[in-house]
Amino acid sequence: MALDITYPRRNTVACRVGPVTIGGGHPVLVQSMITEETRNIDACVEQVIALHREGCELVRVTTPTLGEARAMEEIRAKVTERYKYVPLTADVHHQGTAIAVEAAKHVDEVRVNPGLFVFHKWGDNVEYTEKEHAEEREAIETSFVPVVEACKQHGRAMRVGVNHGSLSERMLVTYGDTPDGMVESAMEYLRICEKYEYQNLNISLKASRVPVMVAANRLMVRKMDEEGMAYPLHLGVTEAGDGVYARIKSTAGIATLLMEGIGDTIRVSLSEDPIAEIPVCYDILQSLGLRKTKVEYIACPSCGRTKFNLPTVLNEVRDATKHLVGLDIAVMGCIVNGPGEMADADYGYVGAGAGKITLYRKRNVVKTSIPQENGVAELVALLKEDKVWVDPPEGQTKSVINLAVVG
Ligand code: SF4
Repeated sequence: MALDITYPRRNTVACRVGPVTIGGGHPVLVQSMITEETRNIDACVEQVIALHREGCELVRVTTPTLGEARAMEEIRAKVTERYKYVPLTADVHHQGTAIAVEAAKHVDEVRVNPGLFVFHKWGDNVEYTEKEHAEEREAIETSFVPVVEACKQHGRAMRVGVNHGSLSERMLVTYGDTPDGMVESAMEYLRICEKYEYQNLNISLKASRVPVMVAANRLMVRKMDEEGMAYPLHLGVTEAGDGVYARIKSTAGIATLLMEGIGDTIRVSLSEDPIAEIPVCYDILQSLGLRKTKVEYIACPSCGRTKFNLPTVLNEVRDATKHLVGLDIAVMGCIVNGPGEMADADYGYVGAGAGKITLYRKRNVVKTSIPQENGVAELVALLKEDKVWVDPPEGQTKSVINLAVVG
C-alpha cells in the first residue's frame, strides 16, 4: 500500500465550519471562491454546487453590501434544496459590521479583513501616537464585537483574513509594507475575539509574493505561540494569475509551509474558472503525502536506456489502474536504474530489454520476461492475485489523472 509519510503538523485547535473542521488534526481542507455576482442567485447556486462536486469542501461567496449578505439566505436554501448542504463562507471587507452580522445568520463562516473592516483615514501621519493607536483599537472593538457576538450566537466560524495589499493605513505607517504589519493586523482582531471568549477561528495572511506570504505565516505562528494561541491557518498566494506559472507560484508558497507542518486549509487562487483550482489543491496535498485522492504514479522521464515508449505505456497502465486509489504504481524504463528508483512503490512495471518487461511487488521481482504487449494484462492479473483489484466504475475508460514524473 501507499507510503505513510506525514510531516509533523503544527498542533492547532479545531475550527468548526458547519459540518467540516479546519485544524485540530483534521485533513487539510480544500476551499475556493465563486466568481458569479452574489445577487445573481441562480448562477451562484449552480457555481457553488459545481465547485462542491469537484471536491471544494468550503465555498466562499463575496458579500460587499448588506444586500449580498441577505442574498446568502436564498443561496444557502437553494443549494441545499437542489443538491445538499454545502459549507459556505461570506467574504466581508469594508465597514463590515452590519454585513457580517447579517451574513452570520446564513453562512457557516464569516471572513473579516482587518485592513478594511474599520476604514479610518487619518490624514498624512508619519507616526501614530500611543493614544491614536488606542483610539483606533477602541473603534475596531466597537465595530467588531457585534460580529463576534453574532458568530457566537449562531455557532459560526470566523476567518481573520489579512491581505498584504490591503493593510490599514495605521499598520502601513507603523510597520511598513511588511509581514510584521500583516501579523499585528491579525493579532489585534484575535485579541478582541479572545477577550470576548470566542475562539472558533482560523487565520489567513496572503500576499502575491511568495516570500512575503511564507514569512508572514511563519511569523504568525511564532506570535501566536508567544500569546498562547493555536488557531489554524488558511494558506494561499493571492493574485497568482493563471496557467502553469500561477500553479507553480501557489505551490511554492503553500507547499513550503505545509512541509513545515504549517497550514490547515488551502486555496489556490487562479485567474481562471475556480473549478480549475481544486485539482491543483489536491495535487499539492497528494504530492506531500497529506491526502490521497488518486493513484500515485512514479514514472521515470525515460532516456536512451528506455526499453519502450514510456509515455504510451504509462498511459496504458494508468488507464487500467487509475481507479485503484491508494496504490503507488511505478513505470520505469529500464532494469538498470528503475528498480532502485521506484521509491517504494507498491507495484513496478519495468522495461527489461528485447520487448520484455518485469513486474515487481515492492522491490521484489514477481514475474520476468513478459512480452510487452501482455504487460498491462499481467499487471492486472497480479493485482487480482493480491486481492487489491476492484473493477473500475461504469463508464471509466479515459484517464483524467495528472502525472507526477520523477527522474
Ligand atoms: S529508469 Fe532512469 S536510466 Fe532507466 S530508462 Fe528511466 S530514466 Fe533511463
